[in-house]
Amino acid sequence: MVERNHPALKIENLHKSFAGLEVLRGVSLEARRGDVISVIGSSGSGKSTLLRCINLLERPDQGRITIDGEELRLKPSRKGGLQPVDRRQLERLRTGLGMVFQSFNLWAHRTVIENLIEAPVHVQGVARREAIEKAEAMLAKVGLSEKRDAYPAFLSGGQQQRAAIARALCMDPAVMLFDEPTSALDPELVGEVLKVIRDLAEEGRTMLLVTHEMAFARDVSSQVIFLDKGEIAEQGSPQQIFDAPQTERARAFTSGFA
Ligand code: ADP
Ligand code: MG
Repeated sequence: MVERNHPALKIENLHKSFAGLEVLRGVSLEARRGDVISVIGSSGSGKSTLLRCINLLERPDQGRITIDGEELRLKPSRKGGLQPVDRRQLERLRTGLGMVFQSFNLWAHRTVIENLIEAPVHVQGVARREAIEKAEAMLAKVGLSEKRDAYPAFLSGGQQQRAAIARALCMDPAVMLFDEPTSALDPELVGEVLKVIRDLAEEGRTMLLVTHEMAFARDVSSQVIFLDKGEIAEQGSPQQIFDAPQTERARAFTSGFA
């Protein structure tokens, strides 16, 4: 049942192992509407696996995932791990998650506008004209109107990443998931992408953001999660995590950035 005033995203007790290696060891989190939750932690701590389990790009071994008040129905699969009970429910719930990866993942053989309308038209069944209108508005939001008809190869990395963000926004996601959206960019292009993410935060978008940009995380987040070896070692306001970490590991991790 869909509760009133439900969180945009609720994760309960997520577990995931790869060939005996426990990568997520019971992760729970809740994002209320408008929350910007940054996930920080060392390389290999399970940040990407967490995001990939949330949209079932990886099958969790255990746990519950509720998106915009609707729980994703999962059942044990014979290969191990959990699988969706109903593929159509999974596809529908996935449209509520706007995923932006480290690499830009645009279709190379389609123009920017075609990239943006693909899922609305073919997955959500939105009329083409309506999808184009929405896509144009999202391109304007990320400052890319003039690249409407360009192919991705003619865009800089920063422009490609902004197009990827606009594409995710076209689905009206309840939550945006970002996995190190600036880590593949040349340093001079990082700022333009962070600016777009900051604008989204200010406009009240709910976001779960994996990032190594500590100053940025500190600035835009309502909450910071420090993931350590697949567990939430510490969680709190940016001030708590960066200025007064309670655990030795969080202290060691954030000390270079504060
Ligand atoms: P992070 O994003 O925090 O750097 P990851 O979630 O990518 O960490 O990885 C966590 C651990 O899980 C690492 O030890 C990584 O090698 C392992 N891992 C991730 N994906 C796979 C996979 N598909 N198969 C086997 N091991 C994996
Ligand atoms: Mg990662």
